[in-house]
Amino acid sequence: MSDKDLLDNIKTVFKRMSHAAMKAGRSPEEVTLVAVTKNVAGDVVRRAVEIGLRVFGENRVQEAKDKIALLKAGMPASPVTWHLIGHLQKNKARTAVELFDLIQSVDSVDLAEAINRHAAKEGKRQKILIQVKLSEEEAKHGVTKDNIDKLMDAVFNLENIETEGLMTIPPYFEDPEMSRPYFRQLCGIRDRYKGRGFDLPELSMGMSNDFAVAIEEGATMVRVGTAIFGERNAVKK
Ligand SMILES: *Cc1c(COP(=O)(O)O)cnc(C)c1O
Repeated sequence: MSDKDLLDNIKTVFKRMSHAAMKAGRSPEEVTLVAVTKNVAGDVVRRAVEIGLRVFGENRVQEAKDKIALLKAGMPASPVTWHLIGHLQKNKARTAVELFDLIQSVDSVDLAEAINRHAAKEGKRQKILIQVKLSEEEAKHGVTKDNIDKLMDAVFNLENIETEGLMTIPPYFEDPEMSRPYFRQLCGIRDRYKGRGFDLPELSMGMSNDFAVAIEEGATMVRVGTAIFGERNAVKK
C-alpha cells in the first residue's frame, strides 16, 4: 500500500470519527483510535507511526511480540502503546503482561488471576478490559451476561489488575445499524455497574464497518484495521 493511500485512509477514519462524535454531542478527543495491525507487516506499522498513530492492537501474542521488537529496534524511545484485542490463553499470560499496555480480552476469573500473578512478578499494574459476549452467534470468546458479576467481583479484588472498562465484538452485519443494539447493551452494562460502585470508563466497541455507530453509542475506543490498512489480508469466503 502506498504512503498516500495509508495517509488518506487514516485521515478519512479520523474525519469519520470526529463527525460521529460531534453528531452525538461528544468531543472527538474522547475517542481513541486503536489501529489493528494483525497481518500487517512491520514496515507498514512503522509508516503508520510516522504518520502519527500511537495506539495499536494485535490479536495474537506471538505476532505482536515479533512486531513490537522490530519497531522498538527502529525507535528505542517508542511513543507507541499496544493493546491485546484477541483471545488470550492462560499459558501466554506472562508474555502478554510483558508486551501489552492494555489487555482488552479478559473473559474469565482464571485468566484474570494468571494475569494478576504475572503482573505482580513484573511489578506492574496491568490494565485490562472485560470482554463481554452479548449474543450466541458472536465471537466464541467473552464472558456471558450470567457470569459478569463473578468476574467483576474477582477483577476488582486483584491487586495488580486495573480494570478500565468493557469490550465487545458484535456479530458481523453488512448494515452497521444492526450493531447499534449491541453497543447500547454494552453501555447499559457499564452504567449498571457504575451504580454498584464499579467504575468502567472505557468502552471498546466498533470496527471498520461500524465504528461510527459505536461512537454515537458511547465508544471510547474503536478498533479499526481494514479501513486503515486495506482489505489485502481479508480471507475471502
Ligand atoms: C481484526 C479485529 C478488529 C478490526 O477489524 P476490521 O474490520 O479490520 O476493522 C477489531 N477487533 C478485533 C478483536 C479484531 O480481531
